[in-house]
Amino acid sequence: MPITRKNDGIHLVLIPRRRANSKDIVASWGLMSSRGIFTSITRKEDDPIALRMARALDRPGDDRERLLLRIGLPVGKYWICKRSPQHAYEAMECLGGNGVIEDFITARLYRDAPINAIWEGSGNVQALDVLRALSKSPDVLEAWLAELDKGLGGNAALDDAVARLKSELADTEDAPYRARELADWLALTMQASLLVQAGNAAVADAFIASRLATRNDRNYGSLPRRLDIDAIIARGDPRQA
Ligand SMILES: Cc1cc2nc3c(=O)[nH]c(=O)nc-3n(C[C@H](O)[C@H](O)[C@H](O)COP(=O)(O)OP(=O)(O)OC[C@H]3O[C@@H](n4cnc5c(N)ncnc54)[C@H](O)[C@@H]3O)c2cc1C
Repeated sequence: MPITRKNDGIHLVLIPRRRANSKDIVASWGLMSSRGIFTSITRKEDDPIALRMARALDRPGDDRERLLLRIGLPVGKYWICKRSPQHAYEAMECLGGNGVIEDFITARLYRDAPINAIWEGSGNVQALDVLRALSKSPDVLEAWLAELDKGLGGNAALDDAVARLKSELADTEDAPYRARELADWLALTMQASLLVQAGNAAVADAFIASRLATRNDRNYGSLPRRLDIDAIIARGDPRQA
């Protein structure tokens, strides 16, 4: 089960990259650029948590990594599966009418995207599994927060978000009702922390500004100004990999 849950996440992170990160999509035109960048950082945001959990799976003898996996797998599966239909849809729209015809892969990606949140544990089941893990052993939360804290100090919005998460976690009232929101915040803050730890300031700043700072992420293409857009485009260009 852990392997298949991880695969759901990895699969969703890797497959749409073919389209969403293409420089052809991320045109220099401002709005298209903002939307393309947003689809790109949506993938970038998902990469770290999927790959971090893959690394933990590679170390079965390490207790710390095992504790991290305990909530990392349900959090990662929950969040990545929830984001994928929207991401696939936006990638399709970037290609206009071509995106929707069967000759292009985007139509199939869009049609298949919701399946991942249904099988191998649906969204609610994953969110409730996170609560179960947290309530069974305090070591699980301790390991998660230790990993999270490694990204602190470099970005005030991330620091604020982690403080808010900790206060939400300390409040156990109505926990099942709040399970999805907690899973969201566990995922968002960990992804931001891992991006900060990875050292690519352009991607980390764009992600944190759009997801954790005051701005919202109701739609693709609503990034704040003054981000290092060129650096993100260059990083997402498969021809430069
Ligand atoms: C394409 C595909 C391939 C599949 N392949 C396999 C396979 O190879 N082998 C296999 O064994 N199964 C397979 N399945 C079955 C899959 O694992 C189940 O569909 C999945 O576990 C959901 O169960 P269910 O369909 O009975 O829905 P339900 O469990 O009835 O879930 C319906 C809804 O209720 C919610 N829900 C359920 N329980 C709770 C709860 N306790 N608290 C809160 N909310 C809850 C869920 O989140 C969901 O939204 C496959 C499914 C699909 C779609």
